[in-house]
Amino acid sequence: MRTPLGFIRSYATTLLSDDIEPIDPATQQKFVQIIDEEAAKLQQMIDDLLDASRFQSGRFSLETEIVALGALVEGALARSRPSLEQTGHAVATGHRGGGLRVLVDPLRIEQVLRNLLENAVRYSDPGTSIECVVYRENDEAVVSVADGGDGIPGAEQEAIFEPFYRGESARLRGVRGTGLGLPICRAIVEAQGGRIWVENVPGRGSTFLFSLPLLDDGASPHEEAR
Ligand code: ADP
Repeated sequence: MRTPLGFIRSYATTLLSDDIEPIDPATQQKFVQIIDEEAAKLQQMIDDLLDASRFQSGRFSLETEIVALGALVEGALARSRPSLEQTGHAVATGHRGGGLRVLVDPLRIEQVLRNLLENAVRYSDPGTSIECVVYRENDEAVVSVADGGDGIPGAEQEAIFEPFYRGESARLRGVRGTGLGLPICRAIVEAQGGRIWVENVPGRGSTFLFSLPLLDDGASPHEEAR
């Protein structure tokens, strides 16, 4: 949190100081933009910290409802796609098994998905592809997010779900963050009876998966046929 705060203070101080050369409007605009971006990062970190402490103390509520998971994921992707594709990443989706109904808090599930997608962007090269698939496995619905990035060394595959743990890929890429995103995802998914884990696909980065219990025996014949 000190890093974005440091940027905000130093750019604001520069803009306010009148004992240096006047700053041209284009540079002023750039500085204000940096302040805005750093404030957004700081806000995200504060949100993560608040979420993490709420989950740790068990003081959070879920607004659960019956939802069609495929539609929920499609909607979340449509909302996230413009910002994800700013880096030139291509986000593809796939469905195997329509009509998967789950009892979840849709906003919290969208939060998990957004977090996994944002990580996929942060820990892979611009222009590579990210694939999000929803499918059924036995009595669970599974959502996977696969990237073409760094992958996660075997020794880190559990540790990355611990609060404040930052992995090798964060160090290598110099990506800033709190190490709270995945622990929050795990708390949200587990609170709804699911699991979350990561798998490495050789030569294909990492695939994060989360499962949710299916509400009933699944798809109607009409939905299955789609
Ligand atoms: P943060 O990204 O702020 O460090 P997270 O809890 O989201 O926090 O992730 C923990 C660590 O897991 C990261 O520091 C990074 O090393 C690793 N990680 C997460 N997602 C990916 C990914 N898609 N590819 C490679 N490494 C990842």
